[in-house]
Amino acid sequence: AIELRGLRLAFSANPILSGIDLSVAAGERLALIGPSGSGKSTLLRCVNGLERPDEGEVFIFGEPLARQGRSRVQARRRMGMIFQHFNLYSMKTVLENVTLAPIAVGGLKKTEAERIARTCLGRVDVSTLADKYPFQISGGQQQRVAIARALAMQPEILLLDEPTSALDPELVQSMLELIQSLAGDGMTILCVTHEINFARRLADRILFMAEGRILESGRPDELLDRPRSERLKSFLATLG
Ligand code: ATP
Ligand code: MG
Repeated sequence: AIELRGLRLAFSANPILSGIDLSVAAGERLALIGPSGSGKSTLLRCVNGLERPDEGEVFIFGEPLARQGRSRVQARRRMGMIFQHFNLYSMKTVLENVTLAPIAVGGLKKTEAERIARTCLGRVDVSTLADKYPFQISGGQQQRVAIARALAMQPEILLLDEPTSALDPELVQSMLELIQSLAGDGMTILCVTHEINFARRLADRILFMAEGRILESGRPDELLDRPRSERLKSFLATLG
């Protein structure tokens, strides 16, 4: 579903991605771990075209994610992204936040978009909040709405960038359970997380990034219980 070939990216001469090669099969669930600043968010942003690599190419379902034009729009329709901070439109209600892209990008009629939106809000357990504005609901609820908004586009690929890091500790577990339940649907998932136990349960494969490279990649038990590099050993030790 996703193929990255030789991605390199530097910000003002600082290398951020230093040669990333990765193939993700359709339906595969990947967790991406690694120290702060290692390039995890940048990698995710390259996958959905928010960032352009200096070198290398991104393929989504076999098609190059062209720099401009129709194919990029089409590829992005097939991907949903959930950010660390929920990025809801503050001047729009919950329901409007979720129907916006299906109407504007998907071309759905308002009634159809609202029907889908209500289904998605139900799936993430916030049906009752449809008419509220983001400032009227909690952080955990906002993150659920952000997930409903991504689901409303019926994406085949879901990209999640530390979906629980801005949540209060008591909300983290239920959010992780929600993501886990979505993962049962056959979507391809690429999730940046610091929650190692969650990564272990969610992922078919875990990638460890450091200094702009994927240093290790493997099944959760291989990678977490038998880390090969000192870099990964010391990273896992810092997580306790
Ligand atoms: P964290 O775990 O803290 O979220 P990360 O692994 O997601 O870290 P990135 O956000 O990808 O790391 O950032 C990698 C490096 O790139 C950091 O040193 C960051 O300062 C730098 N960086 C990211 N975006 C930009 C930008 N737009 N301009 C300049 N530097 C950037
Ligand atoms: Mg990040």
